[in-house]
Order: sequence, then C-alpha cells, then structure tokens
Amino acid sequence: MKKTNHKMHPETHMTSLGYDPFLSEGSVKSPIFQTSTFAFKSAAEGKAFFELAYGLRDAKNGEQMGLIYSRLNNPNLQILEERLAVWDSADDCAVFESGMAAISTVLLEFLKPGDLFLFGNPVYGGTSYFINHILTGFGVHVVSFTADHTKEEIIDLVEKTGLQNRLKAIYVETPGNPTNAMIDIEMTKEIAEYFSTEEFKLPLVVDNTFLGPVFQHPMDHGADLVVYSATKYIGGHSDIIAGVVSGKADLMARVKGLRTFLGNMASPWTSWLLMRSLETLKIRMEKQSFNAQKIAQHLLNHPKIEKVSYLGLLDEGTRQKEIFDRQCLGPGGMVSFYVKGGEKEAFKFIDSTIIPKVAVSLGSTESLIQHPATMTHAEIPLEEKKYLNITANLVRLSVGVENYEDLIWDMEQALDKI
Ligand SMILES: *Cc1c(COP(=O)(O)O)cnc(C)c1O
Repeated sequence: MKKTNHKMHPETHMTSLGYDPFLSEGSVKSPIFQTSTFAFKSAAEGKAFFELAYGLRDAKNGEQMGLIYSRLNNPNLQILEERLAVWDSADDCAVFESGMAAISTVLLEFLKPGDLFLFGNPVYGGTSYFINHILTGFGVHVVSFTADHTKEEIIDLVEKTGLQNRLKAIYVETPGNPTNAMIDIEMTKEIAEYFSTEEFKLPLVVDNTFLGPVFQHPMDHGADLVVYSATKYIGGHSDIIAGVVSGKADLMARVKGLRTFLGNMASPWTSWLLMRSLETLKIRMEKQSFNAQKIAQHLLNHPKIEKVSYLGLLDEGTRQKEIFDRQCLGPGGMVSFYVKGGEKEAFKFIDSTIIPKVAVSLGSTESLIQHPATMTHAEIPLEEKKYLNITANLVRLSVGVENYEDLIWDMEQALDKI
C-alpha cells in the first residue's frame, strides 16, 4: 500500500500490510517462501545478521534483523505476525504450529519450579491438562477461580496458599467453553496489580479464541498477552492447526526467545494459509455472529428447549450482562443449548441435523455440532461437570456462514425428531 497518514481499520490492512509486491515479481499475493535457510550476500552480512539475532549489539537506526533460517524468521511468518498484531493493537505477535504450542510456550516461559500460577476455571481441555499434569509435574503450584468469584474471594484464595510472593502469572479464558460464562478481565487485572511489586509486574494472559480478535480486545482491558487457537476463527476453514500469542514488547521478546529453542513456530505453508484466512476474518465473524443471534433467538421459545446460553441473550441487570457490555463488541458465533431430556434426546437431535457436521472444533465457515459432556469435556469428573452446567442434555453449536433460514429450518426439523 502507498504511504498515507490515514489510519486504516484492521480489515483494510489484511490484504497489504507488511508485503511489497515489487520485491516478488509484482505478485499480488505473497509467494510461499518454502525454504529452510536464506543466502547472505557476503560473510560480513551474515555476521551482521547474527549479531542482531543474538543481541550481541544494538540495531543501528532503522536496521531490521535480516533473514537467516526459517526457525528464526521467514517472510510468510513475519508478514502474518505483523498483520495479526494489528487486531489487538499489540507491539508484537508470534505464530505457532498449534494453539497448545502457543499456550504451553507462554506458560513454560513465565513459570518455574516452586512458582504459583493462578487461572480461571474452566479452561480448554488441553490447557487444563497442561496445567494440572505437566506444570505441576515440574513443581509449579496452581490455584484456580471461576466466573462466580469476586475479586476479594480470589485474592483470598491466593493468600490462603501462602505462596503469594511466588505468584508469577495469571491466565483466563473468556468467554468459557461450552457455557459462555464470562470472566471480567479488568477485575483480573486489578488482582494482577494487587500482587505486583515495583520490580515485578505480574503478567495477565487471556485466551481470546472464542470472541477474538474481532469481538473482544483483552489488551484494552489490561491483558499483557493474548493467546489464540488460530485453528478456530482466525483460520476459519477447518483446514489448519495453528496458534497465536500477541502482546507487549518485553514479554513477546521472551515468548519468541523460547519459541526459537522449542522450534514450534508456524511453517511457511501454515502462515500463508492464515494470511488467506485473515482477509475474510471480519466478514466471516460478523456473519457467524448474525446467524447465531437469529438461531439463538429462535431456539429460546421452543417447547423442546430448556435453556439457551448465548452472549446475545444475557438478562439485563446481571453481572454477566454488565461484563459483556463493557468487555465485548459482539456476541459471536457459539450457541449452547439444553434440550429437554438427557443424553438420548440430545443424541437424537444431533443425529437428526442435516447441515452441521458432527465434529469438535469451532469457528469455521461450516456449522459444527457436538455434545460437550461426552466429547470435548468427557474427561471432567461428573461433580465438576454439574458445577459447570455441562449436563447430558447440553448441545454446542458453532454457527457457520450458511444461510440462517436454512439453519433454523434444520434445527426445527431435528427438534421435531426428538
Ligand atoms: C482449540 C482451543 C485451544 C487449543 O488449540 P489447538 O489449536 O487445538 O492446539 C486452546 N484454547 C481454546 C479456547 C480452544 O478452543
């Protein structure tokens, strides 16, 4: 794009930012730089690039790190990261081969044996396993809270461990899966500040997979790092596994540093596919949210439906509605609902739908339907499932970009089969 002072919206940047066609034969789309290593013009140039890569000297005016090796940098990865950072107004961004690679790298960078880690429950199943089995296996202590807890209660939970001086990171996922329960990011930031000192600023990490990056900007509410499973809305076509971390420069330098040595950065091909996806990210998410609102509203008064959990249908005057209005820019495309009955009725309904694929994952162009109690959340103990309202009659629908009247027709005919 030619230089201008006009401040563009993120979606406008998604086709151009960070890429000059005239460095690549005029190709309108970035080629795939399918190469492991990059040639230096001379030995001296190679030396200069490595000095910057290893921090052996400061960059001269405007000097950028040259291309060295695709585990450190690659044009596809760099263009993608520049574009993704825009959505969260982040200083920098790092893309990984999966959401779990992004999340585990962040947690391993900020937590050491003996440290305390505070997180909001529930989190994604893989994240929960990593926290409760892998981190604790390395000697990290963990304490959790839920969307129902107040700030004072959470501070109390931390202080009861007696390890508050070793609290090194806070992590929340909001809205929660599959019930859409929301955690107040600003309140969580106040907790991070409460436990911060002059020397140590406690980092707040937010998993923004469900609403972001279009309908929720955690950094505007105090988050220091934002993580995504880019497999979901960012990728948006059920054809890539990828993950993203965006955030503040000093923390991102640490995340990228560990990524270099774990070697879990996204490949040129994954990066290229994600650049394709970013061009339609906003229009996809807006359409999915529009469709989801129509479907949720329709299901609300259906005689065979017990309850609908959708962010576009929260009751006025509730704490959840107040958080939503302050924190979110739209309700998104995830609708969860309870059919009347139990597993038998839920399965009959799911199997009777025609348009959605029966599959886990979410955020894709096609609608996906699944049964959390026996699929995504199968391993959660029964008592905890009850507490989290993940009952046998709960169905989760990830709404796609299909025609909403067709989807409503499909829900209606499948409900008739129960
Ligand atoms: C899917 C998901 C993850 C894990 O991402 P992968 O790309 O599958 O590794 C993490 N957090 C949330 C909220 C998810 O939905």
